[in-house]
Amino acid sequence: MTLFDSPLYDGHEAVYAWHDEPTGLKAIIAVHSTARGPSGGGCRMWNYASSQAALDDALRLSRAMSYKNAMADLDLGGGKAVILGDARRDKTPELFAALGRGIETLGGRYWAAEDVGVTPEDLAATRRETRYVAGLVGLPSASGDPSPVTAEGVFRAITLAAQRKLGKSLDQVSVAIQGAGSVGGGLADRLAAAGAKLTICDLNHGLADVVARRTGAHQVRPEGIFDVDAEIFAPCALGGAINADTVPRIKARIIAGGANNQLADGEVGDYLFDKGVLYCPDYVINCGGIVNVAAEIRAIEAGAAYDPAWVEGKVARMVETLGEVLDQAEQGRRSPHRVADEMARARIRARQ
Ligand code: NAD
Repeated sequence: MTLFDSPLYDGHEAVYAWHDEPTGLKAIIAVHSTARGPSGGGCRMWNYASSQAALDDALRLSRAMSYKNAMADLDLGGGKAVILGDARRDKTPELFAALGRGIETLGGRYWAAEDVGVTPEDLAATRRETRYVAGLVGLPSASGDPSPVTAEGVFRAITLAAQRKLGKSLDQVSVAIQGAGSVGGGLADRLAAAGAKLTICDLNHGLADVVARRTGAHQVRPEGIFDVDAEIFAPCALGGAINADTVPRIKARIIAGGANNQLADGEVGDYLFDKGVLYCPDYVINCGGIVNVAAEIRAIEAGAAYDPAWVEGKVARMVETLGEVLDQAEQGRRSPHRVADEMARARIRARQ
């Protein structure tokens, strides 16, 4: 299939591919939209099975960033970089510097940040060749670890959803969290402090132990998390947790978590809606990380320092946006993920 025929192409403005022989860099940058501003999105390093798989991932992720950035009310479009390679074996500072030379040729059309397999140290090498990098450390503009902001946003979304769907405050609800990493662990801390009854799991049992001890959460095996009798399910691990196999097992009346691409496909979201489960669209409520990165870009552009008050304003606005999505879903008797997609597309169109 050619690029333009791919269903994932979906109106992308541009796709760039680089090969730098001396460093072995092979990278793709997909720019879905710059209608709302320069495209912003993380840079992922992954050992893809094929270059087609890498291209598909870049396309899927860059469109998702367009939607996420639009719903977070950021002056950013959507883009994503993928480096083809094994993050444990193939990384060198020279490779990340070569990526920087590629990004620099785009003249600010794409801003890079961290994603899976890429650290602030890697990005420091990229920064040697281009200023269009955020997610750095040690500078006044630096935004630091985005995970606490993501966890805070998801926590507030869960607070709203519990009130709307269950008429309950957090000290009256039970929550099952899949994944006790940076976002899942931070979410567990906040929910425990608010008095929620928690069940957690992680493939990394040691990590789950630590978070369980810290929060008083009950711990189950990773596969058992879908059978937990909790009112709220928070996917905070990898994508695709909500699928045809898991939906019949999930007893929760609310699904709201930090993971990207939680729904295996749109039909699963419709099925949840028909079952009366309130699904809070992932890219609406997990925007805290990119909001934090946007604050850094803003600070770099203004030659100013990172502004936590601006970040707080955007996170608070996200909760209002979620309320609007849920209102429209209720009024139109439609699934929230369909409403959010439409709203995101309208927000992008309005700035074209
Ligand atoms: P992380 O690597 O710190 O944590 C993920 C955890 O999930 C790991 O501990 C891993 O062992 C566990 N895990 C993986 N598969 C599992 C499974 N099947 N069952 C149980 N545990 C499993 O990553 P993170 O930064 O916490 O991100 C979590 C999710 O949130 C990802 O989908 C990420 O894309 C998304 N996200 C993160 C941010 C952020 O700011 N970090 C922002 C937006 C979205």
